[in-house]
Amino acid sequence: MQYRTDPKTGKKISALGLGCMRFPGVAPGRPDIHAAEAIVCRAHERGINYLDTAYLYPGNEACVGAVLERLGLRDEMLLATKLPHASCKRPEDFDRFFSEQLRRLRTDRIDYYLMHNVTSPAQWERLRALGIEDWIAAKKAAGQIGAIGFSYHGSAGDFPVLLDAYDWDFCQIQYNYANERYQAGTAGLKEAARRSLAVFVMEPLLGGRLAGKLPDEAKRLLADEKSGHLATPAAWGLSWVWDHPEVTMLLSGMTSPEQIDENASIAERACPGSLTPEQHACIAQVLEVFERSNRVPCTGCNYCMPCPKGINIPGCFAAYNASFAHGWFTGVSQYFTASAIRSGHPKLASNCIRCGACARHCPQHIDIPERLVDVRRRLTPGPVGAVLALMGRSHAN
Ligand code: SF4
Ligand code: SF4
Repeated sequence: MQYRTDPKTGKKISALGLGCMRFPGVAPGRPDIHAAEAIVCRAHERGINYLDTAYLYPGNEACVGAVLERLGLRDEMLLATKLPHASCKRPEDFDRFFSEQLRRLRTDRIDYYLMHNVTSPAQWERLRALGIEDWIAAKKAAGQIGAIGFSYHGSAGDFPVLLDAYDWDFCQIQYNYANERYQAGTAGLKEAARRSLAVFVMEPLLGGRLAGKLPDEAKRLLADEKSGHLATPAAWGLSWVWDHPEVTMLLSGMTSPEQIDENASIAERACPGSLTPEQHACIAQVLEVFERSNRVPCTGCNYCMPCPKGINIPGCFAAYNASFAHGWFTGVSQYFTASAIRSGHPKLASNCIRCGACARHCPQHIDIPERLVDVRRRLTPGPVGAVLALMGRSHAN
């Protein structure tokens, strides 16, 4: 495993971290503990020493805690979790959430603690007014928090303001070759590094959209250039992130021991500055192709779910994007599967009542009800909608 040094704490962190949010589940909110155990076990065997979870990932902290206890790996791993800061209305809420997190994770300390999904400096100012700075100082002094940071999904302009608003130890940003100018972006990465913060990267493959879900034309471009460890689109995407010396670690939501093996092998070889100018040029070409199909920037994070009308929002957007990346029929087929069209009670995009419950949770700031109209128009155009209506499987088309 390749290790990089956290510039604030001096800790050696594996360049590949395990994002636990995408653990396979036996039911919504119930991760499969046996599958999770196999994943964490293999991660440890391959030298991964950083695990990321959050209070808001349903059932996830409790699963991580149970797995670490069963495997006896708590002291081998750097453990990160996040405060649901928007739910903190009073100063005592900080302790309430934190105590519950320690209980769930079966630990007495959190090595890396984040404000979850900060989108503007105003959110931090609100927490400050509630006294969070004193609370953090006390937790650090007691050894209950190792390093403090935030995960970010706001604008490029606000990012340096937030960096300067507190003496952060680290930050976590969305970063990949399609997001150089999106959210914190490359400018933000460099700003954070200039302040000697550890920078952790999330969504290095945009929820798989820069891996297996890449348009076929883009895959062909990468296949033509393939060399050494750059054998798959995922290898290209991850290596692009690791090519940046400012990146301390990237999180991958690996869902099987095999995926751990694959990514760990790439991590061993993808050092800063290892991509050639020709390889960067190839990625630039791939990006051009990708942008043509990137109609809705959904990463499939599920933060917007559940929808009270049962709509599979990320499934709708994945199908919509697939209809541009892989052809209309592929998109329609995916859409009908995601909408459970055969069930007799399909949850089509047209079922949306515009209640707005989803959009405020979207870290990509997608106007979900509006974009579902685009999904409906493209994937159930006039004749298709009419047939569905005749079958009693659609309305409002
Ligand atoms: S706005 Fe539409 S998609 Fe969003 S939660 Fe409400 S019904 Fe579901
Ligand atoms: S629409 Fe937004 S919140 Fe929902 S899955 Fe996609 S990126 Fe996540």
